[in-house]
Amino acid sequence: MKYLLDSHTHTIMSGHAYNTMQEMALAAKSLGLQAIAITDHAPTVPGICTMGYFTNFNVVDRFMYGIELLLGVELNIVDYEGKVDLPSSKLKKIDVGIASIHPNVGNGEKYPAYRPGDIKENTRAYLGAMENPDVDIIGHPDDSKVPVDYEALVKGARDNHVLLELNASSLDPFNVRGKGGAADNMKKMLRLCERYGTHVIVNSDAHCACAIAKFDKINEILQEVHFPEELVVNRDLNLYKSFLHRFN
Ligand SMILES: [Zn+2]
Ligand SMILES: [Zn+2]
Repeated sequence: MKYLLDSHTHTIMSGHAYNTMQEMALAAKSLGLQAIAITDHAPTVPGICTMGYFTNFNVVDRFMYGIELLLGVELNIVDYEGKVDLPSSKLKKIDVGIASIHPNVGNGEKYPAYRPGDIKENTRAYLGAMENPDVDIIGHPDDSKVPVDYEALVKGARDNHVLLELNASSLDPFNVRGKGGAADNMKKMLRLCERYGTHVIVNSDAHCACAIAKFDKINEILQEVHFPEELVVNRDLNLYKSFLHRFN
């Protein structure tokens, strides 16, 4: 499958990533992508940009170096009801919203955003976030530190027209999620996505331009479970945009 877009990347504005918006767009163009989304962390993550960064996106040209640039945010789910850390009033200029759980365990309490609950509480958190109109994608729901009822997650995503993410960074050996069985969780999720007709998106979560669209390990998983290509939105820009509230 030819990947046309990467919808989860970070720039220097996240405080722990290393390239600018322009560098990311240029790298994406050189890889043959048609679109890239910049989704820096919302302010609960320490060291992040100010709120004004997310409310001033109208000054940025959405085409750069000949490819489409989408500007978004990676929101933090902060409680078991699925509340996120930026209100709708601050998100009027964003093109894409990802909601992720960054548990405050195993990462030196770097992300004090979420205390992992039991499987019911975590599932409720994800389902609650899906009902938020600012949320288009559930980011990396593959972390064994945050156990989840995948059947409920997959059905909920389909019913709320929200994408479930296959996060390439989760499979990096240095990533805390990779050590916790992320690959197995993805396979379980994918088998259910096929059964229920739920769409997924493959994202890099690149914190460096060098990691954009590095999808080899995700490809291996997709092939292993014989996942139907029609359910992967990266192959079609219009299909991807049909899941983004901003374009509908
Ligand atoms: Zn994340
Ligand atoms: Zn991220």
